[in-house]
Amino acid sequence: MLMPMVVPAQLWQETGRWDKYGKELLRIKDRHDTDFCLGPTHEEVITDLVRDELKSYKQLPVTLYQIQTKFRDEVRPRFGLMRCREFGMKDAYSFHLDAACLDQMYQKMSDAYHRIFTRCGLSFRQINADNGSMGGSDSSEFMVTAKTGEDEICDCSSCGFAGNQEILVEDCCPQCQGKLTRVRGIEVGHIFKLGDTYTQAMGVTVLTHTGSSDVVTMGCYGIGIGRTVAAAIEQHHDDKGIKWPMALAPYRVDVIITAMKNNALVNAATRFFETGNANGVECILDDRNESVGVKFKDAELIGFPYQVIFGRLWVAEQKVEVVFRMTGEKQELSVQDAMTVVSKAGMV
Ligand SMILES: [Zn+2]
Repeated sequence: MLMPMVVPAQLWQETGRWDKYGKELLRIKDRHDTDFCLGPTHEEVITDLVRDELKSYKQLPVTLYQIQTKFRDEVRPRFGLMRCREFGMKDAYSFHLDAACLDQMYQKMSDAYHRIFTRCGLSFRQINADNGSMGGSDSSEFMVTAKTGEDEICDCSSCGFAGNQEILVEDCCPQCQGKLTRVRGIEVGHIFKLGDTYTQAMGVTVLTHTGSSDVVTMGCYGIGIGRTVAAAIEQHHDDKGIKWPMALAPYRVDVIITAMKNNALVNAATRFFETGNANGVECILDDRNESVGVKFKDAELIGFPYQVIFGRLWVAEQKVEVVFRMTGEKQELSVQDAMTVVSKAGMV
């Protein structure tokens, strides 16, 4: 679904967050002098929607999600995608009859987030976190480790435990007593057990199987989309540019033609490009009238996982050079074998 970005203040007043949320909530007025805010998160909106829709326990559990622009009036917005005031987010909200059912969904979401961030080629830690202004009981954050990260996390190299700074007070690992090291992290996902914080305040009840009326239990789950991409770049780059993990790359293969005046070479490269795309291997063709140096530099800067180079080697031996950006590995292959290599490459 897609929820409104401009949200009536009245909904935020119902939960008390209109006063509690602070200056990150951008408050605006319309022409009738009525208060609104730009949604930094959408618990109030979704709760308002479901209180009219949910009548019976038979409709539960239900999870609704959107991919939408959010706005948070950050004190110190930064350049790039890391801390923008306006950002893209995937936010999901689940509703349940009881805490046990919420626990199950929370675990499923946690598992799904592990798969998503793993598939994105990210090295990350899941840590228990403070629910802060969200309310509720448990929450955990998914932090991508990166030197430039804005949060400090503690990491146990013996058992894999990770926690936030507060754990430093204890000074060794609470699970295995091993030594903790400090690393920096970028938050890319956060999942919350909200319990009945919102549903109680806004009166979301359903009829149970015994005919009584019960307050619904809620969870919410967010992924910062731009931040995930920015974090991937922080983890995978060198001084020449980006090294895209396969699942996030804009194109898997950059097909580079080194001599645009050689028609046979241009045709062979174009055939490779067309065959790749026809078979689900996303290729882009660099057929610009630029020097070879410019083409190689751009390929490294943009960071396509593979470069397939149609140049002197093809003219001499009908072979291409295949460069794997992540490791710098180079192979000289027949056109057929090159296609096999770029087609079979795993997602990460
Ligand atoms: Zn440990």
